[in-house]
Amino acid sequence: MVTVAGVDVSPDHFIGGERVGSTDRFAVESPIDGHHLGDVSAGGSPEVEAAVDAASAAFPRWAGLGPSGRGVILDRFASLIRQRSEELARVETEDNGSLILGNRKRIMSRSAHNIEFFARWATNLRHEPIEGKVAVNDVRYDPSGVAALIVPWNAPFMLATWKVGPALASGNTVVLKPPEWAPFTCSLMADIATEAGVPPGVFNVVQGLGEEAGAQLVARRDVARISFTGSTDTARSIGKSAAENLTPVSFELGGKSPFIVFADADLEAAAATIARQYVNAGQVCLAGTRILAESSVAERLAPLIRLETERLPIGDPRDISTRVGPLITREHFDRVSGFVERSLADGATPMFGGSPSDFGSLYFTPTLLTDVRQDSEIVQREVFGPVLTWQVFDTEEEAVKLANDTPYGLAAMVYTTDPARANRVADAIVAGTVWVNCFFVRDLAAPFGGTRESGIGREGGTWSFDFFCDIKNVSTRKDSFT
Ligand code: NAD
Repeated sequence: MVTVAGVDVSPDHFIGGERVGSTDRFAVESPIDGHHLGDVSAGGSPEVEAAVDAASAAFPRWAGLGPSGRGVILDRFASLIRQRSEELARVETEDNGSLILGNRKRIMSRSAHNIEFFARWATNLRHEPIEGKVAVNDVRYDPSGVAALIVPWNAPFMLATWKVGPALASGNTVVLKPPEWAPFTCSLMADIATEAGVPPGVFNVVQGLGEEAGAQLVARRDVARISFTGSTDTARSIGKSAAENLTPVSFELGGKSPFIVFADADLEAAAATIARQYVNAGQVCLAGTRILAESSVAERLAPLIRLETERLPIGDPRDISTRVGPLITREHFDRVSGFVERSLADGATPMFGGSPSDFGSLYFTPTLLTDVRQDSEIVQREVFGPVLTWQVFDTEEEAVKLANDTPYGLAAMVYTTDPARANRVADAIVAGTVWVNCFFVRDLAAPFGGTRESGIGREGGTWSFDFFCDIKNVSTRKDSFT
């Protein structure tokens, strides 16, 4: 056991209902101040094989329980997450530097909801019979087998539940590969699943490095589904392995989402929401990182954004008043500062920020860069840090053109008081989600995902089950039983 934020956490895998250690270990440090949190088992081929075998063995019984039988256990799983939410929040904050405020107030209750929501949805999952001339088509949602679930470090527990919920509710068994930069809350999830009565082998965790444990897991022929959230580059590599076995994939990837403010918008509301893009040091996939302001209000909007951003305290994420915490690791900090340095050398000008914060070694000041070319790296590539760009447009057509001109298509924010314009722009934007006069409103029943380099597939509501299930049509000749 290691102790993180006062909570005992196993640094080992969880396979077939047992804790299993590896000789190889990797060190995990807190981004808050670099203190050592523990040495975690680094899985490879043997651990992945054991976990997939355990999940395969447990599959028939779990699938056989049916949605209601599974639902009883998954409801307990959700309520235990709620009971332990304070501990989970503290461990997550210590492990990945995300704000204790968000983890306490939103993230852990959302995680519990992810489990119970899909458990309930599964009990009502059915399709109306499709009546043909000759036969009646009865659509069934069969469990597909072992699901490999891989999550990133920026919100590992919550993002894992978003996959674990529908995968288990569908009757699949799972092998979860947590992120090596923040592995601890996913380990606690195994304890919670066990306490809830999830049978051995149904929920497995293999800790390890992405290119070892992760790569071994996605290369397995006996994995029926791969659900991955992470970077576009990693998705390319996973996609190659999946193609070899024709394993269906769901990819939730990075973004470079536009935040469009029209002249008729509520500028104060827009500025406040733009400042929110810096929360968690901008390590949020959905963040609207490209501010597109209509030229006639640009000079009024820019100071409002600065004012709202100055209200965000930078500091220790364990402090409830902090809004901007650290970047996750030295490697990631160097990546973020590299983006900023190259853009400044390329002619960009900081409207504010542009340099590391003196709060601590992994803290970067919220940054807004202007004088950026549309084809420059800082506009085209995801930074995943507290760095936004500022561009001005004159017409709606120009706004849409700029908004759509990156390789990504995860989300877009549109601020306007004109409903017809909101509708036209939403139609023209290429993105999985368009938020009109809001941000980060997520309804679990609605589809979520990205287009272009931001992802493949949609999750949420019935879309999650379309992915995790083998959909079968039983077509029965109408006069068969007369
Ligand atoms: P990453 O791709 O480096 O790693 C994500 C996970 O994949 C980790 O668990 C890692 O160990 C594993 N991995 C790495 N290489 C692998 C391989 N070859 N085979 C299998 N698994 C492998 O991403 P990250 O740096 O952890 O996370 C940040 C990225 O995640 C950003 O691009 C962000 O936008 C994206 N993200 C997307 C969403 C979304 O819902 N669209 C949500 C959160 C984060």
